[in-house]
Amino acid sequence: MNLVETLGLEIGVRQAGTPAADRAAQAVADAFGDAGLEPGFHEFGMLGYEADEPELEVEGERWDAGPCIYSNPTDGTVEGRVRRLGTHSIGGFFPEADVFAVEDEDGRELARLLMTPFGGPAIPFLTGARQIAVGPAVFISGEDAARLREREGVLARVRVGGRFVPGLTERNVVAELRGQSEEAIVVSAHYDSVWRGPGVIDNATGVEGVRRIAENLAGHGHMRSLIFIAFAAEEIGCIGSRSWIFDSEVTGELGRIKACVNLDCIAHGDRLELMASPKALADRLQGFAGELGLGERYDLNIGPAGPGVDAFPFHEKGIPAATVSHFGYDEYHLPTERLELVDEQRLADSVEVATLLIESLLEQPVQRG
Ligand SMILES: [Zn+2]
Repeated sequence: MNLVETLGLEIGVRQAGTPAADRAAQAVADAFGDAGLEPGFHEFGMLGYEADEPELEVEGERWDAGPCIYSNPTDGTVEGRVRRLGTHSIGGFFPEADVFAVEDEDGRELARLLMTPFGGPAIPFLTGARQIAVGPAVFISGEDAARLREREGVLARVRVGGRFVPGLTERNVVAELRGQSEEAIVVSAHYDSVWRGPGVIDNATGVEGVRRIAENLAGHGHMRSLIFIAFAAEEIGCIGSRSWIFDSEVTGELGRIKACVNLDCIAHGDRLELMASPKALADRLQGFAGELGLGERYDLNIGPAGPGVDAFPFHEKGIPAATVSHFGYDEYHLPTERLELVDEQRLADSVEVATLLIESLLEQPVQRG
């Protein structure tokens, strides 16, 4: 069984809070079971968001726009002049991206146009504001942001029609492999996808990676325990991992978690990104990448744990956390994330380097940062 195909092709688009996400959770649980684990579900309540296709017209011309998740709707279609407010970098980690306001005659803001944080096409994404609901906003491409910089004061029409969906329950798929010690290493990947995105690369590949690691490590004894988790609702603010961490902290379980090793987008993309904190963990990961000769095969980017992935909330709790990822690709968060993009070599290499790190952590965790 290959979860890339099951999630990316058979189920396809599986936004948090939808029946497709539910089917995805079940499919992952079945696959974990086949890999020799005994999976269960961690359920949590959630505020969902249903995005409409946003509309953006600049001087009568239709421009591409991606929905901003948890954006309030505009009051019908609004029209005003574009003013550049400045730039924003999510968490001070992502590249600086332009932020424009569309303002009425009195200078009151009607909507925002946010340049995609990656500089590419107008994808669905979240603002970096540390609150859930934001004012009406859409994402525009890096190229369109550059065009707008030259045309400040132009007339723009915007329509945002998203809805908040209260009362949802989502579920993380969790399977523990008991070792000699209660101390545990979390191995994770998120299974949800973005609006209209089949999420083949992001992140059916990561979940398949976790499944392969589980299959390799199940069936023999380990010094410490392993907790395999397929997180829900990552794409709308890492809500699945944050809920799991919150609940584990409440029950006192979090204290036995010694590290998190996370896989996100592992089979396509320009660079092999190994983002880990504290530095001792990044050094260890870099060492394994070196042993496998990955620096000769890929453009390596090694750095600290950054926001926007499920490893980050662990890092925020002071737990050593690493993400393995191949990143930088044109189809990111778009409907064009297709099965043909999957590079088996990248996937296998990611699994191998992650497995070496996990095995070393089972023997000897790194000190908290
Ligand atoms: Zn992802």
